[in-house]
Amino acid sequence: MTVWLLGDQLHPDATPLRSADHVLLVEAHAFAERRRYHPQKLTLVFSAMRHFRDDLRDRGYDVTYLRAETFGDALEEYFEANPGDDLVGMRSPSHGADEWRRRLVDERGGALTLVENDLFLTSRADFDAWAGVDASDDGESGTAVTDEGTAFRQEDWYRHVRRETGILMDGDDPVGGAWNYDEENRETPPPEWSPPDVPRFEPDGTTRGVQAFVAERYDDHWGDPSGFRWPVTREEALTAVDHFVSVRLSEFGDYQDAMRDGEWALCHSLLSAALNLGLLRPREVVDPAVAAYESGDAPLNSVEGFVRQVIGWREFVRHVYRRAMPELAEANQLGQTASLPPLYWDGETEMRCLSEAVGHVRKRGYAHHIERLMILANFALLYGVDPAELNEWFHLGFVDAYHWVTTPNVVGMGSFGTDVLSSKPYAASANYVDGMSDYCAACPYAKSETTGENACPFNALYWDFLKRHEETLRGTGRMGLMYSHVDRKDDAEWRAIRQRAEDLRTAAAEGEL
Ligand code: FAD
Repeated sequence: MTVWLLGDQLHPDATPLRSADHVLLVEAHAFAERRRYHPQKLTLVFSAMRHFRDDLRDRGYDVTYLRAETFGDALEEYFEANPGDDLVGMRSPSHGADEWRRRLVDERGGALTLVENDLFLTSRADFDAWAGVDASDDGESGTAVTDEGTAFRQEDWYRHVRRETGILMDGDDPVGGAWNYDEENRETPPPEWSPPDVPRFEPDGTTRGVQAFVAERYDDHWGDPSGFRWPVTREEALTAVDHFVSVRLSEFGDYQDAMRDGEWALCHSLLSAALNLGLLRPREVVDPAVAAYESGDAPLNSVEGFVRQVIGWREFVRHVYRRAMPELAEANQLGQTASLPPLYWDGETEMRCLSEAVGHVRKRGYAHHIERLMILANFALLYGVDPAELNEWFHLGFVDAYHWVTTPNVVGMGSFGTDVLSSKPYAASANYVDGMSDYCAACPYAKSETTGENACPFNALYWDFLKRHEETLRGTGRMGLMYSHVDRKDDAEWRAIRQRAEDLRTAAAEGEL
């Protein structure tokens, strides 16, 4: 029997490895051309796979490592050498991937058995039982609501996972008495604050070899190939966890929602890429964080905030994606149809927040959560971008992007293409950006103006967005306050807002924002 692991299943202790000594890994080069993936993403995946191969060989496994154009080509080669072999693998979180792999193997005369993916904390059965949804269709039903017809809610799921795992629990109660310290995650750093150190993992010979290959083969892809710094081995990933917990975790909570001019990482963990590759299991990042709280080295608002992201949000989006596909990928309840303006590709805009955030993605394939949600997705939402097109941009641009995690975040949370992840859109004007960052101070646009040449584009686009989608949004939970402001504007104000929004759309489409 041979274990076939995918490039995002690189854990040294993945369950199937315990009962086999032959491993198959496939680097599919044309597969990596489906979109113009960031060169650092491709370097990360291929380098991590090659390091994983070497580690397995050092541990005595017999590894067949195939480089091919497609998975089909690689399996052709594999089954020519190993006719009728039985393969065992772990399920993929990406929609349709399991059926596709089974078919590829079947067509070549082999058999593929897939076991539960143990790189997540919770199983499909756990979620389906909690949600009260019919698990008999194996989660491919396309329904993102419970059997009672109500949408899933992350906070309920998060509490359930805390109770089930005992993480940050004191008997039946949450440690500290509250489940959620979100209110204490909204500080901005004072001007004299200097951000803590960020680790850098210098490319070794293997990574440099991959970089050269990627530069040659994928020379038209989007993003800066230089300055690669991401952990590519298990050892480096564990070092990244240690570094985060000892250096940045204590301030993570306070500054979780903050943005600062010139700072790309602040106190974020930068662990998503390693988690999504399978180099780390969720508990391997959560347990050290909880230990830091227990030893008095990190405050509860930081540790709870971090734990919530990993065992709450990350697990939640994975399951909601599973239940909501395939409709989720095309969901567009607001009927938004605009194309992404060119500034998402070239970063050319006078808007300080947007040029910084796009610059971060281009340079490293990374921007932190608030830049993703409240700058990059928020602007596209107000501008009217088609959620599927925005999803493509996020998917190709980020080192941690995979269909299962990018799609719910972009189409659901960021674009409000559906309400499966949130009950209201994450739409905000310059007021929010200014409150959570110092970007506006360095920006030529006026944050408190709505109309006029110099007014911050976020403002007119925000009001215009609320007006355009009034029918869908007015009655939506928690939108009452926003619509009370809408109701206070007179016709003349609306005419000016509409005109300004139209001018901004034209300017952005022409690369003149
Ligand atoms: P931290 O801020 O340190 O958070 C800790 C961990 O929590 C992350 O490493 C991640 O594993 C997990 N996490 C937090 N929020 C989420 C979430 N909403 N969904 C899933 N995991 C979460 N995350 C991805 O992994 N890949 C993506 O392609 C991706 N695209 C996104 C697109 C948009 C529009 C938005 C709003 C969010 C997206 N996220 C994505 C979620 C989140 O922004 C990133 O996981 C996070 O910014 C990664 O940086 P970090 O490791 O420093 O995270």
